[in-house]
Amino acid sequence: MKDFLNELFRSIDELEEEMIDIRRDLHRHPELAFQEVRTPEFIADYLENLGVEVRRNVGGRGVVGTLIGGLPGKTVALRADFDALPIQDEKEVDYKSTVPGIMHACGHDGHTTALLATAKVLSKHRNRLPGTVVFIHQFAEELAPGGARPMIEDGCLDGVDAVFGCHLQSTMPLGNVYYRSGYIQAAADKFTIKIVGKGGHGAVPQETIDPIIIGSQVALNLQTIASRRVDPLKELVVSIGAFHSGKAFNVIPESAELIGTVRSYDPEVRNMAERSLIKIATSVAEANDASAEVDYERGYDAVYNHPEETELVKNALQDVPGVHSVLETPPVMPGEDFTYYTQKVPGSFFFTGAQMENPKDVFPHHHEKFDFDERAMAVTAKSFCSIILSYQKQHNGNLEAVGTSQE
Ligand code: MN
Repeated sequence: MKDFLNELFRSIDELEEEMIDIRRDLHRHPELAFQEVRTPEFIADYLENLGVEVRRNVGGRGVVGTLIGGLPGKTVALRADFDALPIQDEKEVDYKSTVPGIMHACGHDGHTTALLATAKVLSKHRNRLPGTVVFIHQFAEELAPGGARPMIEDGCLDGVDAVFGCHLQSTMPLGNVYYRSGYIQAAADKFTIKIVGKGGHGAVPQETIDPIIIGSQVALNLQTIASRRVDPLKELVVSIGAFHSGKAFNVIPESAELIGTVRSYDPEVRNMAERSLIKIATSVAEANDASAEVDYERGYDAVYNHPEETELVKNALQDVPGVHSVLETPPVMPGEDFTYYTQKVPGSFFFTGAQMENPKDVFPHHHEKFDFDERAMAVTAKSFCSIILSYQKQHNGNLEAVGTSQE
């Protein structure tokens, strides 16, 4: 088993140049969520050339590869997303985006490459591979409602026993990997509240219904959701990021608009926040003879990692070459639709540090100069291999035989 894993690691090292070529090719040709054409075609062709069974157009634009190993075992899925963002690439590198206004600014080109490399080495050694590996190449992660749900509805998790995924992190050091049991990424919702009052002269307030005063009351009252209505040990953020109303110094406007976000982990806290927000906005408006229209848009659910699978990830990452530290990450606030996979089957999502060596090249995700250290792709591919074998070892009766039969 250990020998087999080391052989997989060596095979990944041999792919270093190919991985860089693939990643840079994807980087030069980014495609937006729900508009991907070239990328899924490239992925499907690549997997087919490896002899992996491929399903195209899964749930829309997704690609699913299935590799059946030569030994009995469980079915484990690995997921990588492949969409890019509506951002102009401002890096000065020869692999910068060739598409104006579109850029791989979240590392999904790296996720895709790492998963293709994993497929390549596992298919090369398929005779010694226990169980089945499902490669889920997901379209449209960046834009809700996302590609995960339609892919699941189209059967990408059918027969799958566990699912794992990874996100590269441009602001976390190369060599570090991060796990977390329980919630790892927040549910991110957006709300818009429109208060409609009655406009009039600033000097004759008694003939108006002032939406600025009412909107201010709503803004203040919304802060009681997190401070007074939720268990202090549970996380909730309610923030208003925009408050628009009025134009002139002496005119009371007709309406006011408040736009904000609610971030949470626990589904009950989220439901409570949504209900409270609507109730506060509408009843404060009503108490002032105004009306409030509330539009509450739910983003992705919070990403939940199952404890047992997370423990497995934590242990499997310890001996991966290139990994120096396996750390517990605090939960992070950006959303991710990986959550829909772990709502269906047990699994865990982890982070691979991918910070650029030169501090002047380090930028956060979704930044116009975003880039990552390409060595993180091999770390991710090796982590995937280690997770697959650890999972099979943990769940198969005949452990010693795993990976030892001859080709
Ligand atoms: Mn991302």
